[in-house]
Amino acid sequence: MENGVGNSGENFWGANPRELYLSINSNIFQQEKGMKKTVIGSVCAGLLMAGTAFASGHGAQWGYTGHKAAEYWGDLSPAYAICKKGLNQSPIDITNTIEANLPPLVFQYNTSTVDMIDNGHTVQVNYAPGSTLTVDGHTFQLIQFHFHTPSENAVDGNLYPMEAHLVHADAEGHLAVVAVFFEEGASNPLLDKLWPNMPTKVGETTTLADMSYDVNEMLPRDHSYYHFNGSLTTPPCSQGVYWFVLKTPATGSRAQFQKFHDVIGSDNNRPLQLRNARPVLR
Ligand SMILES: [Zn+2]
Repeated sequence: MENGVGNSGENFWGANPRELYLSINSNIFQQEKGMKKTVIGSVCAGLLMAGTAFASGHGAQWGYTGHKAAEYWGDLSPAYAICKKGLNQSPIDITNTIEANLPPLVFQYNTSTVDMIDNGHTVQVNYAPGSTLTVDGHTFQLIQFHFHTPSENAVDGNLYPMEAHLVHADAEGHLAVVAVFFEEGASNPLLDKLWPNMPTKVGETTTLADMSYDVNEMLPRDHSYYHFNGSLTTPPCSQGVYWFVLKTPATGSRAQFQKFHDVIGSDNNRPLQLRNARPVLR
């Protein structure tokens, strides 16, 4: 956060934000050439396999406390080196954003059966195939969502009590994450259904086999968003991830946040990373 403002102040981007936006938006999905291999690697090693990674012992162990905490991830394995060397790491402090006419997020989310997995780092909810996010004509499939408490991304330096990451992949393995902040308020209707079934031991999976789970119930009504490029927020911290952070938080109750924190046993938010030269569009 302390350096999140560094390269992106008014003097630099502010000089001609419109021109910058046009150049960015004209190739929103072409910005980072050569990312395909990295991102596919992340699908295997990171998010999609997170549920089985623990059980199989795949990859070096990491965590959020002690000598496996985030500040050491880049040293725990050569496969995690990008965690400390990468210039496009997540999460970030969202500030000094650039006005842009961003295309709408088109959610076509169906109801689903779900598997909930306690992978030791978060509770991950695997969603059935067929639910999609389309942005600017590019379609991604929703694979899973999971949670962090407190939030990982910040807005003007402020964290929310919780953040959900809806992880999508396109046919080539590129990842798009829709991040949803939670603020304290009315109990969240989807979490009301999921939380009583939350697995409470590492490696445990709960299968909810009826088609009554609807991720739409977790989202705020307003889907306007911030956009930037970043990374996985967990090892191997692979870059080339398209981030879409909803501006409007969803609501959840304090008890819902607390139950998740109790199951994980600690905060599970990676600290804010340097923004470096990245623009953040709003
Ligand atoms: Zn996450």
